[in-house]
Amino acid sequence: MLSQVVEVIESKRRFAITSHIRPDGDSLGSSLGLYWLLRALDKDVEVIMRDPVPPAYRQLPGADTVRVTPSVDRPYHAVFVIECSDITRPGLIDLEQQFVVNIDHHSTTALFGKINWIDSTASAVGEMIYNLCKATGVRVTKEIAECVYTALITDTGSFHYSNTTERTFKVASELVRTGVRPAKTAEAVFASYPWSRIQLLGEVLTTARRDITGQVACMRLTRKMQELTSAPDEVTDGFVNYPLTVGEVEATALLKECEPGIYRTSLRSKGDVNVARVAEKFGGGGHRNAAGCTLKGDWDEVEREIIGLLQDAVKRANGAKDITEDGGQ
Ligand code: 5GP
Ligand code: MN
Repeated sequence: MLSQVVEVIESKRRFAITSHIRPDGDSLGSSLGLYWLLRALDKDVEVIMRDPVPPAYRQLPGADTVRVTPSVDRPYHAVFVIECSDITRPGLIDLEQQFVVNIDHHSTTALFGKINWIDSTASAVGEMIYNLCKATGVRVTKEIAECVYTALITDTGSFHYSNTTERTFKVASELVRTGVRPAKTAEAVFASYPWSRIQLLGEVLTTARRDITGQVACMRLTRKMQELTSAPDEVTDGFVNYPLTVGEVEATALLKECEPGIYRTSLRSKGDVNVARVAEKFGGGGHRNAAGCTLKGDWDEVEREIIGLLQDAVKRANGAKDITEDGGQ
């Protein structure tokens, strides 16, 4: 819990911070926010990741200090693990031998740390880092503010998703007061892609299919499309959301072929439709409305299976709604 995290920070000196493979806005924004917090307290700290910082986040203060490494290869008094469902998610060898502090906002996360601070009411881990500033008495500097703000806008889908709360806006408001420029940050994160993104999106959209009810959709991203357009990996951020912009679509999947027969799958949904449960069936996880997993098999078979499971999730949510409505009357 929070008080234990404060105690670790106060009693120890040499820290590393890490997060999951293929880091995103919350993992990098929160890791770097914590980095600046610890620097403000004169601690010895570095951010280590298995994968490099994607271009959208290279403008974050401190992004150039992130050290890419396959293992925890230096001695630390404690390693903070940010937004990871289990100890293997950072993809770092020898992490389990460290004094691990697990900081996450997923309710389903494993309690793999010596200390576990889990707050599933936080819209992003970034919001927790802001709370940690308050708890440690560290002033929210412009560096911390930019990092935390990036975490908030990426994990809440620019304040669209259901994890957005009054507190999220309160925190965001203070960050803007500290000097964050929302338009500038949004442009860096959401509007700095190469043209190949448009070409690849065009290819992917031609594969969009929906089920008979019109409530479940699915899209494919093949290796051939990626070769054809020479688009780098990170340009596919946000592709999965397009079918959800249609009124009746409740759940959607984007299957991205990494190797023949192996697909990184992103799942998204609206309202009570729980795609985290679907992802967990395949060893993945995430939030109710945004989750991911890896699927194996041939295209048609895998697509049929995931559509079936998404249909079940939609049905369950509609059933749950009926029960709630009855109960409320
Ligand atoms: P994305 O579709 O953007 O890759 O992932 C959406 C969300 O699902 C992430 O924020 C993360 O919480 C979760 N997620 C994605 N892939 C995995 C996975 O393989 N395992 C787990 N536990 N969570 C995942
Ligand atoms: Mn997050």
